[in-house]
Amino acid sequence: MAIASLSDLAETARCPLLVIKVGSALLVGKQGVRREWLAGLVDEIAAARGRGQQVIVVSSGAIALGAATLRLEKGGRGSLADAQAAAAVGQIALSGLWTELLGNHGLTAAQMLLTLEDLEDRRRYLNVTATLTRLLDAGAVPVINENDSVATNEIRFGDNDRLAARVAQAAQASAVLLLSDIDGLYDRHPTEEGAQMVPLVEGISPEINAMASAESNSGMGSGGMVSKLQAAEIAELAGICLVIGNGQHDRPVQRIIGQGIGTLFLPRRKAGARKAWLGGRLRLKGSLVVDAGAAAALQRGSSLLAKGVIEVEGVFERGDPVAIVDEKGRVLAHGLSEYDATECAAITGLHSSDQADVLGYAPRSSVVHRDQMALK
Ligand code: GLU
Repeated sequence: MAIASLSDLAETARCPLLVIKVGSALLVGKQGVRREWLAGLVDEIAAARGRGQQVIVVSSGAIALGAATLRLEKGGRGSLADAQAAAAVGQIALSGLWTELLGNHGLTAAQMLLTLEDLEDRRRYLNVTATLTRLLDAGAVPVINENDSVATNEIRFGDNDRLAARVAQAAQASAVLLLSDIDGLYDRHPTEEGAQMVPLVEGISPEINAMASAESNSGMGSGGMVSKLQAAEIAELAGICLVIGNGQHDRPVQRIIGQGIGTLFLPRRKAGARKAWLGGRLRLKGSLVVDAGAAAALQRGSSLLAKGVIEVEGVFERGDPVAIVDEKGRVLAHGLSEYDATECAAITGLHSSDQADVLGYAPRSSVVHRDQMALK
């Protein structure tokens, strides 16, 4: 039974595993931690557990909390060093809080601090899956955050929206609920006159992406609507529903799920687990620009041939993940390259019969094989 509406998220049979992401601005107010609000949310998590649903929490707030304690300017986001120091201080308080509040319901909190690389590297990703599965089987509530104290700019998610979607993918969750400071996705900037909330999105399209504004309302978190749509895209590929809803109210899950106020993203398709992981990768080593003929062939399920490649960008080895993009720069697919970047560049535009002379060995059947490719 698949999820078709917001109320389905409360049904254990349709939604056995729910990931709830809590943004910084919800957890931390001007007076510090919003304890009462959080206790209300934890009541809702306990109620879900009571119905037999499993819950994974992705909790932001370490930087905001630590910055308040250390009295750092700009909420601890003035520099990477500030954010890392703030997170180190705030994370202890944050885990203590979750442990205590979940403990009041007899639930055990389990902290996991992840980096981007933990989910981008296939072996480490599977390791995360194994740990999450074991924790859930053992009855714990995983509480996850990015390991902000060690992650540097180039290798960090930076926002917990995409982290939540990747975690949902790793745990094979049914749905992700992003608790935000806005009711859902609006068809234009929400402050513009006539802006309407979009209740249902079936597949992220360029029109949907155009609705997003990079600005986050609170200035405290780092997400904004752009990262939420990226999260929805990651979830979609894995066949997972995603909801953007307003967490600012008391008992926010009841308002979103019970009253049906929020934007529900329904997946159009479900890629196999390995392809979903590949398609959801955030850091790629390079890109292959392809012509219109190759772009059309990919949509029909073909492998990418050297003949259709126009340009090679980046430095990568054979087996590395690359983006396949069209001439307008639109990402068509992620895939693992059969050649390193130099070899790719050497055979660009060539028929297979002409490739052996250039390579010095018999060419492979394609530049990116369709089994190693996830279409976007
Ligand atoms: N990981 C960050 C924190 O705990 C939050 C990232 C975000 O704003 O989404 O403070």
